[in-house]
Amino acid sequence: MLFPWEQSTNIQAELSTKVDGPMPTSNRLGDSPWDGNRQRWLKSRGINPDHLVSAVLCHGTEIRRVSEQERGQRLRGVDGLYTNVPGVYLAVTVADCLPIYVVDPEHQAVGIVHAGWRGVLSGIVTKMVHQMTKSFATDACQVRIGIGPSIHVCHYEVGEDVAKQFGEYRQCIHRETKKPRIDLVGIVQQQLDEVGVEPNQITIDPRCTFEEPSLYSFRRDHDLAAGVMTAIIGLRT
Ligand SMILES: [Zn+2]
Repeated sequence: MLFPWEQSTNIQAELSTKVDGPMPTSNRLGDSPWDGNRQRWLKSRGINPDHLVSAVLCHGTEIRRVSEQERGQRLRGVDGLYTNVPGVYLAVTVADCLPIYVVDPEHQAVGIVHAGWRGVLSGIVTKMVHQMTKSFATDACQVRIGIGPSIHVCHYEVGEDVAKQFGEYRQCIHRETKKPRIDLVGIVQQQLDEVGVEPNQITIDPRCTFEEPSLYSFRRDHDLAAGVMTAIIGLRT
């Protein structure tokens, strides 16, 4: 269990760790020598690997609604998935980027977002709340959010070229050190507040991936090929 809302709902949220092995998403199942890790991990969590819909990320803002038909598929160019169908599990991969779990308990709908600085800047989490509102009449003030472990402001240094794009979030850019640092979690909280999500419905995992040896961190490990974790949400059947 990652988040308090899992206790009172039939929603399952998971995040793999280093112990479960690397889990990069290739374009097709069976393409990757790492697929076995994911299958073993899913089974250990009671999830049928054939019921998974995986986003093959592109750091964009494309969000897809999925249902039974997409089970077992890997969808390219997508950074967010959502559904209201029980037994359809949604997956993104992360290693420093934010895995954001979105839950509408009232309409029994769930979503998951992968957000790096580009996704945060273009408001992908806001877009997810809006899409769920359109599809399921989701009321933002009922939405519960879980932000999984990610690189926190303590370790997220960026170049000036990136920092200056976050002008409207000036209070989330820290400049006490040589290079600017961005508080992506803080920006996401602000964006959620602006669309009407209650601050006390947002749970933030306190772990910074860069500091946590049991989690993959791209900034720390430089393992772009394989060093990623899988984040999953779904409605139990
Ligand atoms: Zn840190």
